[in-house]
Amino acid sequence: MKTTAIILCAGKGERAGFGKNKLFVKYDNLTVFEHTVSKFVRADVSEIIAAVSEADLSEAKRLAENVPNIKFAIGGDTRTQSVKNSLEAATGDIVLIHDGARMFVTDKIISDCLESVKNYGSGICALPATDTLVFSDGRTIESTPDRSRLYCVQTPQGFLLKEIKEAYSQVRGESYTDDSAVYAKFIRPPRLFTGDRRNIKLTYSTDFSFADYRTGFGVDTHAFGAERDYVTLCGVKIPSDSGLVAHSDGDVAAHAITDALLSAAGLRDIGYYFPDSDDKYLGADSILLLKTALSMIKDEGYRVKNVSVAIQAQKPRLSGYIAAMKSSLASALETGESEIGISAGTTEGLGYVGEGKGITVTAAVLIVRR
Ligand code: MG
Repeated sequence: MKTTAIILCAGKGERAGFGKNKLFVKYDNLTVFEHTVSKFVRADVSEIIAAVSEADLSEAKRLAENVPNIKFAIGGDTRTQSVKNSLEAATGDIVLIHDGARMFVTDKIISDCLESVKNYGSGICALPATDTLVFSDGRTIESTPDRSRLYCVQTPQGFLLKEIKEAYSQVRGESYTDDSAVYAKFIRPPRLFTGDRRNIKLTYSTDFSFADYRTGFGVDTHAFGAERDYVTLCGVKIPSDSGLVAHSDGDVAAHAITDALLSAAGLRDIGYYFPDSDDKYLGADSILLLKTALSMIKDEGYRVKNVSVAIQAQKPRLSGYIAAMKSSLASALETGESEIGISAGTTEGLGYVGEGKGITVTAAVLIVRR
């Protein structure tokens, strides 16, 4: 039996608020559209039909250039119309209908869906409800149905092509949120199979931030020896019998965090963007460099989730300045203070740090898609 996968990509995705089709938003290096389509490139799926709006057609075709056996159907104003148009183009005996925004669909889900259609004539991906669901007018609860009989219905939903076509041919302008409801109304009760919690539908912009975290790591060392009675760490001046030697203000902590940020976004390092051969950075306030790095990662679509900084210094004593450093970093990185962790320690007299020759700072950051 031949199988057609229909991927619905014609929604406007307005709830995500990206100002463009959410399926064209990138996750890692590929768009949501590409991720979802790639899941259906399998030996047991002989054709893929992507239902896209007229406006998105050329972009979708470009992205799917290398996908074998893909065709396009023009999406209608409603989901029902998009499915009808796609079914017209389908040639398989079995059709799997899937939301383009469910890019986390697994191989197992697709296999289970196919298996269910072969055994029972239909296969609807569903999960037992975990939230309590109620009927309400939006103000008060009218009734609370028994949760043990409630399921959340997802996609893919699989059918025999001729049956689901027959069902849709009887739809007359009513609106349905999915295919299982159409099948249930005009053919027979469809068969459920158990899905997977990971198979979420990317709907709101926050669903996308959940999907895209990246870590970064940075380290920097500066030597004592500048004729100054303070060191600058995280933008805070701390009394010291010697300053740190540097082209800039020597804020070794700000430098380590800047490198961690740039690294998390896959950019080059601090020396590349702010070279010490450039007199523009002579005595520079390193917090300004950190803020510039922040705006670079924002341009890449990220914000800072949290930062963890470890300072290794035999001197000066730092414990009285941790709170001020946290506050300074939170303000520079546009986070709350609870997103900033700073630890400070000596190296028990060992090595260059222990001998009081310099300070080393390591920093880890987590950035998240905005
Ligand atoms: Mg440095």
